[in-house]
Amino acid sequence: MTPRETIIAIDREFVWRPYTSHVDHQQKDPLVIERASGVYLYDVDGRRYIDANGSWWVCNLGHGHPRLVRALREQSEKLAHCSMAGVTHETAALLARDLVAAAPPGMARAFFSDDGSTAVEVAVKIAYQFWQQNGHKEKNRFISLAGAYHGDTLGAVSLGGVDVFRARYGGLLFDAIHTSHDDTEHFDRVVEQVATLLQAHNDVCALVVEPLVQGAAGMLIWAPEHLRALRDLTQKHNVLLIADEVFTGYGRTGKMWACDYANITPDLLCTAKGFSGGVLPMAATLATQNVYDGFSGGLDRTLMHGHSFYGNPLGAAIAREVLAIYREENIIAHGQALGSQIAQAFAELRALPNVVRTRSLGMIGAADLGGDGYRGARGWAVYEAARRLGAYLRPLGDTVYIAPPLTITQAELAELLHIVRESIREVA
Ligand SMILES: *Cc1c(COP(=O)(O)O)cnc(C)c1O
Repeated sequence: MTPRETIIAIDREFVWRPYTSHVDHQQKDPLVIERASGVYLYDVDGRRYIDANGSWWVCNLGHGHPRLVRALREQSEKLAHCSMAGVTHETAALLARDLVAAAPPGMARAFFSDDGSTAVEVAVKIAYQFWQQNGHKEKNRFISLAGAYHGDTLGAVSLGGVDVFRARYGGLLFDAIHTSHDDTEHFDRVVEQVATLLQAHNDVCALVVEPLVQGAAGMLIWAPEHLRALRDLTQKHNVLLIADEVFTGYGRTGKMWACDYANITPDLLCTAKGFSGGVLPMAATLATQNVYDGFSGGLDRTLMHGHSFYGNPLGAAIAREVLAIYREENIIAHGQALGSQIAQAFAELRALPNVVRTRSLGMIGAADLGGDGYRGARGWAVYEAARRLGAYLRPLGDTVYIAPPLTITQAELAELLHIVRESIREVA
C-alpha cells in the first residue's frame, strides 16, 4: 500500500469523522495532507491544492506564517500551560489588552475559551445571567435568525437555524425564538420581524446575529443598515446584542469586524477562527463594561464558567502575534484590495448556465448552483473537479464559495478564481 492508502485505511478503521456519514467515510477518499505552506496544502503524493476556505475559515494568515511559528516556539519554551485559577500570566493579560484595543470601541473585557462554539456558550450564559441578577428575571429567552449557525455545542445549536445541524437534537435544545424569513435579499423583512417579536415578547434577554454574513447557511450576505437597525431595536427594548464574529471577524468581510460596517458596538462579541490564525484552538467572548459590571459582587453573582485551557499561554501568544501581524502587515487593506478581484470574478460567473446567483463581500465569494442549500449535491461535483485542478473547494451543498487566507497574493487568487470558474463550467 502507498502511504496515502495506509493512512486512509487506518482512518477508516479508527476515526469517527466530522459531518461524515459512514457510507461516505468508507467510500470516498479524503485528501491526505502532509504539510501546508502559505495558501497551499500539500498531500502525501506531493500534489498541492489552494486552500480555498482557509481550512474551515481559520487560516486567515495562511499556513506556517513565520512569525506565528516563532511565537509558538518561543512561548512553548517558556510556559506551555498553567491554569488561570488563582493564577495569571503576562501573555493572557497582554492579549486581553490588545484584543480590547482592536475590538469595536466600548468592548472592555475578554473572557477566553477554546473555539467558536464555546465563545457562543459563554455569551449565552453571560446574557442570561446578566438579566437574572439585575432585576429582570423574566428576560430568559434568545432571539436568533433563520439560517443562523453558531456552533455545534447544545447552546449554540439551540440558537442555530440551519435544519441539518439541529433537527435530530431537538429534544436536547432550549427554546429560542427564531425568525422565519431567511431571504437575505429582503433582509428588511427580518428586521421587521425582529421588531414585531421584541414588541410582543418581554422575556427576551438577547438577540444573536452573525453580522453581515451567515456563513454556514451558504454565505448569505446582508446589509450594514440592517445591522444598525437591529442594534437600535435591541437598545430600544433593553435587550443585549450578541455579535457572533467567529467567521466574520479578523478582516474576512473587508473590515476588522463586520460590526465596523455599521459603526456599532454589540454588548457581547464572540471571536474565534481567525483569532488564533489556525494554529491552535482558542477563542474569546468580549463584553462591554456595562455587561461586566452586571456581575460585580460576590460568589452569588459570579460567572460560573472556565475551561481547563482558559487563557492557554500557547494560544494566547499566537493570538497576540496574530493581532501584531494585522497591525504591522496591512492585512485588512490587502484583503480589501483583493476583495474587488473576488467581486468581479464572482459577478462574471453569473454568465455560466449552471449558476443561479452569486454574491461577494470582502474576502468571500459565493455562487449558488441550485436551491437545495446544504443538502444539495451540485457543489460536490464542483469540489471533485476543483480537486483535480488543484484547489480544496469544499462547498456548502449547492453553494460553491471561497474564503481564502487574507494573505493570498493577487496571482494565487487569480489561479484560484480560474479553478473555480473552470470547475463550475466543467460540471455544467
Ligand atoms: C464556525 C462558527 C462557529 C463555531 O466555531 P467552532 O470553532 O467550530 O466551534 C460559531 N459561529 C460562527 C458564525 C461560525 O462560523
